[in-house]
Amino acid sequence: MATPLSAAEMLSALKTEGLGVHEHVGWTTHNRDKATGKAFGPVIGVLIHHTAGHGDRELCFDGRYDLPGPLCHAWLGRTEGLWLIGHGRANHAGLVDHDVLDALRKQAPLPHDDHAHADGNDCLYGLEIENLGNGKDPYPDAQYRQAVLWAAALCRAHGWSERSVAGHKEVQPGKIDPSFDMDDFRADVRKQLAAGPTGTGGKPAGKASKPRVDLSRLIDAAKTDPEAKQGHVSYLTGTNLTEAALVELGHLARTYAGDGSFGSATVTAYARWQRHLGYTGAAANGIPGRTSLVKLGAASGLFTVIA
Ligand SMILES: [Zn+2]
Repeated sequence: MATPLSAAEMLSALKTEGLGVHEHVGWTTHNRDKATGKAFGPVIGVLIHHTAGHGDRELCFDGRYDLPGPLCHAWLGRTEGLWLIGHGRANHAGLVDHDVLDALRKQAPLPHDDHAHADGNDCLYGLEIENLGNGKDPYPDAQYRQAVLWAAALCRAHGWSERSVAGHKEVQPGKIDPSFDMDDFRADVRKQLAAGPTGTGGKPAGKASKPRVDLSRLIDAAKTDPEAKQGHVSYLTGTNLTEAALVELGHLARTYAGDGSFGSATVTAYARWQRHLGYTGAAANGIPGRTSLVKLGAASGLFTVIA
């Protein structure tokens, strides 16, 4: 759960990740919030679509006779690059499975989508990729790469892992988009998140875009979650970033990461990191301290720390 990025933050996040960005005239105020009386957010993830057509950028901006635009937040052309289309609520997800939304919220593996009851336009950013989606229309490498960067940019900006990424076909029964494998796509987003941003966004690369972990909230989570009910979540984004860093550096098995709960496996892994730094005894008890956390963020390249 997170507050949606402002238009300026969106632009900066995408550019920092390494994307060239085109801005459709009017995109910053183009949304369905007023017309529906439903504000966009809090956001929980990103959704990938194919457009099932070609030359459909303006269609995605204007909408169809039965579905007003914007039909996505960004449109990714086969050769025309990434275009920002809307900002706020967009008609891209429709009614989706609430169990899948719950899993995205918890960054857990996605269950089968067999319901269409929950409003996916409330809480998901949407990318439409220009492709026929018939399995025969190839995605050029450069286009696919931009889709990975788009998803990674938003995940990084929100402190999410690749588990906050889904395909339309995974959330709404009957949908088939996108026409590539979403597990492969998530693996590519994970690699990009670990590799770090490649663009500048007009600022020093990486620096401004790195999410921040709040030390005091993380300490609370490490003290609360292991004793609480299984899967208790005190500080989702900070815990996920810490776990991703521990996974990246080989101190935590991937199966324990990404649920937002600072459970006993995470405490054990954090103690391993502390011992790796040379701490012993009570100083290596698995409860994060400022120095060890700053070093973890720097060594993984995933975050900075606020006290
Ligand atoms: Zn779709």
